[in-house]
Amino acid sequence: MNGRSQNRSVLAVGSVALDDIDGPFGLQRDILGGSASFFATAASYFTDRVALVAVIGDDFPEEHVEFLASRGIDLTGLQREGGDSFHWYGKYSDDLTSRTTLDTKLGVFADFRPRLADVHRDAEFLFLGNIEPSLQASVAEQVAAPRLIAADTMNLWIEHHADALRRTLGKVDVLLINDEEARQLSGAHNLALAANAIRAMGPRAVVIKRGDAGAYLFHEDGTFAVPALPIEEVRDPTGAGDSFAGGFMGYLAYAGATDDDAVRGAMIAGSVMASYCVEQFSLDGLRNLTAEMIEERFAAFQALMRCDHIRL
Ligand code: AMP
Repeated sequence: MNGRSQNRSVLAVGSVALDDIDGPFGLQRDILGGSASFFATAASYFTDRVALVAVIGDDFPEEHVEFLASRGIDLTGLQREGGDSFHWYGKYSDDLTSRTTLDTKLGVFADFRPRLADVHRDAEFLFLGNIEPSLQASVAEQVAAPRLIAADTMNLWIEHHADALRRTLGKVDVLLINDEEARQLSGAHNLALAANAIRAMGPRAVVIKRGDAGAYLFHEDGTFAVPALPIEEVRDPTGAGDSFAGGFMGYLAYAGATDDDAVRGAMIAGSVMASYCVEQFSLDGLRNLTAEMIEERFAAFQALMRCDHIRL
């Protein structure tokens, strides 16, 4: 964005889905969702070398594929199989702070066994989106020499696939999860203790997302926190976590670095993309962004956090 882009390659594996979302702004059916869709779209604003690996069914609307392609995302790893696409149905509470999964139809996702093409094995920044931990591990093993591997997970895997998840965490550099999942995974209520316990499982950095309370980074250089921007329009938090991860990884690829400054920038970039995501349903908040809009909101976060000049 400031001409110093290194434009490193980013590869995401995850779901490309059709979602039904219910909440205070009404029920939306069959809208574009999925962890890889949100992630890759958010990352595509920082580097033009984003690829995704996922599976869709023969019911998947072509206009969604065309949208992802229009963002310059390499879709050669998007398999189309006979059958129904992954379909997720979630319902939000009236204040949008909690959600319940009402239904998950795996469809073609049930037989998804990602095999990476040679071009994807060279990826530098790998994101393991929220899928079964053993599939995440198999993708991590197929990438030749990744510079950084980040992953997401969810309560379902923490509860029912704990051993596989532990093995996957041993291969991951950065784990991005929400506060509830961090507590569940670590068994610690205190988030600083939870982060320490998770870092002892493998990841050298843990990002704990806290919805409208912002996000923490715990890593070898200490702790960093970004507040959430108090935005006036919040319609649909679906995909906020994946959009955060897309902005985070996209920024690191763009900076071509993983040092403390780069990771702090990535935390702000992730927060920017999540803030745009929640303003509208599906990926609509990420469809028509410009570099100026991203820079403007990045500056709004910096203004919100500014205090270095204040003396005690
Ligand atoms: P987030 O709000 O960031 O947790 O991401 C929500 C997206 O994850 C939705 O668009 C869903 O389609 C997708 N999703 C929900 N459950 C699963 C699952 N079990 N496996 C893969 N993707 C899922």
